[in-house]
Amino acid sequence: MRDLRADIKDILEKYGHKVVYVRQDKRFRCDCYSERSGEPMADCPKCFGTTYKVSIRSCLTRRKVSVVPETLPGARRVSPLGNIAATTYKYYMEHDVAPQPGDLILEVEWDGEKPATITEKLYVSVPDPLRGDTGRIEFWQVYVRLDWKGDNDDATLTEH
Ligand SMILES: [Zn+2]
Repeated sequence: MRDLRADIKDILEKYGHKVVYVRQDKRFRCDCYSERSGEPMADCPKCFGTTYKVSIRSCLTRRKVSVVPETLPGARRVSPLGNIAATTYKYYMEHDVAPQPGDLILEVEWDGEKPATITEKLYVSVPDPLRGDTGRIEFWQVYVRLDWKGDNDDATLTEH
């Protein structure tokens, strides 16, 4: 029987590129979050605007342009002009990334092994697990939408 996890790993090692994955820890609010107002501090220097404690890692991925199905909730950005982003990206990620809605994917320029500058900030809207016959998660398709890059995000990234 084929091991899809191994196949995906091979594909990403050959054809993938490296991104920074920002994981929220929903048990802990970031200091910028005021319990009273529920409003995050604009341009928080710690949490990339997620309002939670975050941890970052790098991982290999491959992305494709994707047309978001109407039926996927939360995948479209709603703006004052209406639904503007019908075209977005889908990321393929290994099983151990275990993405959750509200996490972030950062496309970055690398300075050797270190992330230097964020070129795109993407908000994970729908993580879709692909399961094998046994029910095991083999890999993830992750639907994202473009997010606004905060003024302090580059500094947060390099100081992490
Ligand atoms: Zn914060």
